[in-house]
Amino acid sequence: MRLKQIKLAGFKSFVDPTKIPFDNALSAIIGPNGCGKSNVIDAVRWVLGESSAKNLRGDSMTDVIFNGSSARKPISVAGVELVFENSQGRLAGQYASYQEISVKRQVNRDSESTYFLNGQKCRRKDITELFMGTGLGPRSYAIIEQGTISRLIESKPQELRVFIEEAAGISRYKERRRETENR
Ligand code: ATP
Ligand code: MG
Repeated sequence: MRLKQIKLAGFKSFVDPTKIPFDNALSAIIGPNGCGKSNVIDAVRWVLGESSAKNLRGDSMTDVIFNGSSARKPISVAGVELVFENSQGRLAGQYASYQEISVKRQVNRDSESTYFLNGQKCRRKDITELFMGTGLGPRSYAIIEQGTISRLIESKPQELRVFIEEAAGISRYKERRRETENR
């Protein structure tokens, strides 16, 4: 599975609709301080269901919406779409046969988030469940930032196990069992 494209509109500094293609196996985002490099990573994490404003470097969830600049007024909605290539069928369930998966999230100033999977409105849970066990969740190892490696090395056996279970694809089943037991 590979991230092919990110489309942003109204998200943080990306006020105008912006498409970022990732055509090669390895891409780098470069630019001066404050140009929006980390905002791109925040966008990926946000779409995959991140629910902590702090993890998106803000105080509240609506801080992801473009807040205005000296030249532009604030706007009321932010939206980001991630397009994944799924030709190896890594996703479970009904989406396994799809060549391309689009995941989209929108938020308005009332903090209402709306999620879409291949254009169809869905729940946040549908997205987290879809990516669980693939290594792609908001806090999984697909996003390695400063400090992630040392945190891994220093983690306790129980914490390390969480990563291994995600890599092995069994976290999805553990989550389902937990839900069933709680019913
Ligand atoms: P560095 O190299 O210092 O890490 P960076 O390229 O990662 O920089 P980001 O942190 O992605 O930069 O972007 C910061 C910019 O995004 C700031 O100029 C900030 O004003 C702008 N920004 C963040 N949130 C919003 C928002 N809600 N509305 C408008 N601009 C925003
Ligand atoms: Mg940065």
